[in-house]
Amino acid sequence: MSRPVLRYNARMPLRYDLHTHSTASDGTLTPAQLVDRAAAAGVDVLALTDHDTTAGVREAEQEAERRGMALVAGVEISVSWGPQVIHLVGLGVDPLNEPLQAGLAGLRRFREWRAQEIGRRLQKKGIPGAYEGAAALCRGQLVSRTHFARFLVEQGHAGDVRQVFQHFLVRGKPGYVPGEWAPLEQAVGWILDAGGQAVVAHPARYPLNRGRLRRLLGEFREAGGSALEVISGSHSRDDAFTMARHARDFGLHASAGSDYHGPENPWIELGRLPPLPEGVRPIWHDWPEQRVRNAV
Ligand code: AMP
Ligand code: MN
Ligand code: MN
Ligand code: MN
Repeated sequence: MSRPVLRYNARMPLRYDLHTHSTASDGTLTPAQLVDRAAAAGVDVLALTDHDTTAGVREAEQEAERRGMALVAGVEISVSWGPQVIHLVGLGVDPLNEPLQAGLAGLRRFREWRAQEIGRRLQKKGIPGAYEGAAALCRGQLVSRTHFARFLVEQGHAGDVRQVFQHFLVRGKPGYVPGEWAPLEQAVGWILDAGGQAVVAHPARYPLNRGRLRRLLGEFREAGGSALEVISGSHSRDDAFTMARHARDFGLHASAGSDYHGPENPWIELGRLPPLPEGVRPIWHDWPEQRVRNAV
C-alpha cells in the first residue's frame, strides 16, 4: 500500500484538540461523526476523551485512519479530591490496559447506581420516569447528569440544560447525589499504567481558591501528573494566563482542548482554540513527531 500524501507542512503548526466527547459518554455525535467534524474543522490531532470510558476509541481510530487524521486515545476520569469533584484527562492511553479498564468499570458501576438514585430523588419531587428517560437518551454505556438534563428539558421542566443543572442537579438541589469517585492518586496511576499522560481538565472551573488549587496541582504532580489544561473551551483568556503561570510554577506541560459535546452547544467548536500563552511547554512537545506526522 502506498503511503498517504502528507498534508503536513513542517512550518505549519498542527491544530490540536485534546478534549472531546462522543455518544460513548455525554456527547451527541458518534465517534465517527466527531472525527468527521474535526477533520472538516481542520483538526490535525484529535483526542477522544469520554467520561469514564474508552468505548468510543476504536470507532474513532478507524474513522481517523480513513480520514488521514491523528487520533489520540483518551479518557476523562471523574475524581474525588476531598469534597471536590475533579476531572482528569488521560491522553495516549492503551484502551486494552486492564487496571485502567477495571478502574473505569468501577466508576461506571457507581454512575449506574447514582443514576437510579437521581431518578428516585426526582420522583420524590414529582418528576417520575427521569431515570428511564435519561437512560433512553444515552447511547453509550453510561448515564451522566447531562442525559438527565436533556430529558428534563424535553419534559419542559427547564428552558435549557444549564438551567436544569442549576435547579436540579448541583449540590443542594433535589437531584444531586454526592458520592465517591476515584481518588486522585489512583486515577493518575491508572493513566500511567496504561502508558498515558495525565492532565488536570478545565482547572479554572473548580470552585477552589488559589491556595487549594495549588495544593491540588502539587499532589497531582507528586502522583505523576503531566499537564494542566491551560486552554479549554470553558476558560476565559484570563483563565488561560493564570493557568499558564501555574503550569510553569509546577513544571507541568500545557494542554488544549475544546471539551466539545456536540453541535447543540454552538459556542464551542472543535479545534477552534486560542494559542497557548508564551512560556509554557505544550504536552505534545515530547510526542513522537513521527507518529503524529505519519498519521497526518
Ligand atoms: P456527570 O459526570 O454525570 O456528573 O456529569 C458531568 C457533566 O455534566 C459535565 O461533563 C458536563 O458535560 C455537564 N455539566 C456539568 N455542569 C454543567 C452545567 N452547569 N451546565 C451544563 N452542563 C454541565
Ligand atoms: Mn460532559
Ligand atoms: Mn469535565
Ligand atoms: Mn469533558
